Formats: sequence, structure tokens, C-alpha cells
Amino acid sequence: MLVRPLGRLEDNVSSLGFGAMNLPGVPLTQAGDALNYALDRGINYIDTAAAYRNSEEIIGETISHRRRQFFLATKTNKRDYENAKAEIDRSLQRMRTDQIDLLQIHYVNYVKEFQQIMAPGGAYEAALEAKREGKIRFIGISGHRPDLLTRWIAKGHFDQVLFHLNLAQPFALDELIPKMREMNMGRVAMKPLSGGFIQPIDKAIRYPFSQDIHVMISGMVSVDEVKENIAMHEQPVGNGEREELERLAVELGGHNCRRCNYCSCPVGIGIPDVMISSKFREKFGLLPRGQQFYEKNRDKLLSCADYEPCQEQPQCEKLCPYHLPMQQVVQESAAYLVRSGA
Ligand code: SF4
Ligand code: SF4
Repeated sequence: MLVRPLGRLEDNVSSLGFGAMNLPGVPLTQAGDALNYALDRGINYIDTAAAYRNSEEIIGETISHRRRQFFLATKTNKRDYENAKAEIDRSLQRMRTDQIDLLQIHYVNYVKEFQQIMAPGGAYEAALEAKREGKIRFIGISGHRPDLLTRWIAKGHFDQVLFHLNLAQPFALDELIPKMREMNMGRVAMKPLSGGFIQPIDKAIRYPFSQDIHVMISGMVSVDEVKENIAMHEQPVGNGEREELERLAVELGGHNCRRCNYCSCPVGIGIPDVMISSKFREKFGLLPRGQQFYEKNRDKLLSCADYEPCQEQPQCEKLCPYHLPMQQVVQESAAYLVRSGA
């Protein structure tokens, strides 16, 4: 396992991080086995969030006795001082530790949210106070808008950023990663499979690993998944493979969605999942998660073409800051379902 300093944070962390978001969906013993096996094999960056159901409690229950062996990152999605302060204390208690290494302000996608967080009485004040008290060591931020994150980190309030980087979403490479490199911040990428839509899996895992980041968080729920992820991280990425992966990201990610969730569809179509999966579906077919998604949303996808209020102007497209052709992509997905008989 490749280990390197997390930018100016200087802790030596493994290039593969354990994403604990989905652990609440599996039996506790399985979750504990996966976490302990990961630590045994040198994965020492554990990422969770107060919002991931009882993920923090699972960490407390299964690996808190090994606390010195890992870097612990969690998140708060509270925006005001009082609630963020209470949530930090609750996270410490749930994870059975007296110190969190990194607290990330979670899922910040709107300017007004960021302003609230940074204003007097905002969540950042609670994070700073917790840092002074030794409850946390560093403060980071996570979000789905790399362009906004680039602006927000410029004043130096944050030590680390957690951002999307995958074959469908290479956007952090444009400005965000160069800015973080210039500021020597911790660069942590997430969602290599974007929720199970991106394949081939080996290429999807190796793409972020080929870029200038410190840690890639992969969601894992079993010892087998930990083994699979480690196997894909064992060999460094050479220049030839990097170029091939970058070509694939340009081909498959050029038009794609940031998952900012600004858009909504009155019919209930999960537009980001359709957008992210569309080019992969055409080139490689669907992973089980993608198959389930399309089967479950068949009627909704087929109804887009006849939805009267969107005939003149698609309601979703009015809301997309990147002017993506969502109606067209949704209707191509419907045509795929008809062609494939799904
Ligand atoms: S164009 Fe289709 S996807 Fe977009 S809001 Fe209308 S029905 Fe939903
Ligand atoms: S389609 Fe546009 S608005 Fe919707 S989530 Fe993606 S980037 Fe955001």
C-alpha cells in the first residue's frame, strides 16, 4: 500500500481510503471484519460522516480499540454553530474517541450555504472552537461543485478538500487540484464508481489513483471488496496507462454531471444517475446497480418525451449551472430501454 503525507497535514496516509458510508447496510460482524482487515493490510484512512446512519457507531464499536493506527475523517452537514458543535460532540462519542483527525463540512454546494457556514454563528466557528479544544485536528470541506470549491478554499480556511474524481467526472483536474497543490492542501477524491455506474471497475479505480491526489476513498463493505480494491492499488500507474485512462475520461466524462443536485424533475427522474451512466451504458453495458436503476425507473424515463410542461423548455435544464442537455440524455436512455427490451 502506497503511503504518503497528506499535504500540509503531514500525517502519513494510505493512498486507498476506506469509505464507511455503506457499512450500516451489512451485518456488524461483516463490517468489523472489513474494517479490521483493511487496517491489517495498511489502509489507515477511514472516512465517514455523521449523516451516514450508524456508520460512526460501527467504527466506534469495531475499531476504536485500534484508534492510534488510523487517520479518522468524519463530516458534519450542520450549517450553524450550535448544531455543528452538538454534532461534533456526538461524533466523538459515537466513535468512542477523544479526537477526530479531520472534520469536513459536508456537502456544501450553494454559495448561500457557504456564506452561512462562514458567517458569525456558522458551523465553521464550531469547527474552529473544537480545534482549539483539541477535539479535532484539521478542518476540511466536501462538495460537488469543483468550480465553487476552488473559490472557497482560496482564503486558506480549510486544510483539505473531499471531491469527486472519476472517469465520468474529471472536473477537479481543471482548477481545483492545481489550486490545492499550490496551497499544499490534503487532496482526497471520492466516488470512483459514482455509486455503481462506472466501469470497467479496474479502470474506474485506477483512474483517480493515476492523478495527483493523496487519497482515494472507495466505499467497501466486505473483506472481499477490500481485497479487490487493494489489488487494484498495488501497482503504480505508469505513463502509458495514465494516458489511456485520461483519454477514456475525456471521452466518457466530457459532457457530464457534477451531481450538484440543483436540478429536479417533476416526474421524479433521477437525472444525475442517468447523466453519469449514459456514456458508460453505451460503451460497456450496465453494472448490476445500473441495471436495477434503469429497470426501476423505466416508466418515468419513458414518460419524459410526453411530459407537456417540458415541451417548450425542459424544466430541469433551466436549473443546471453547466447547461447540460439533460432532456436529450434522458430521452436517449428511454430509447435504450426500448431497444434493449429492458
Ligand atoms: S425534460 Fe424530462 S427529465 Fe427534464 S424535467 Fe422534464 S420530464 Fe424531467
Ligand atoms: S444535471 Fe446539472 S444541475 Fe443536475 S445534478 Fe448534474 S450538474 Fe447538477
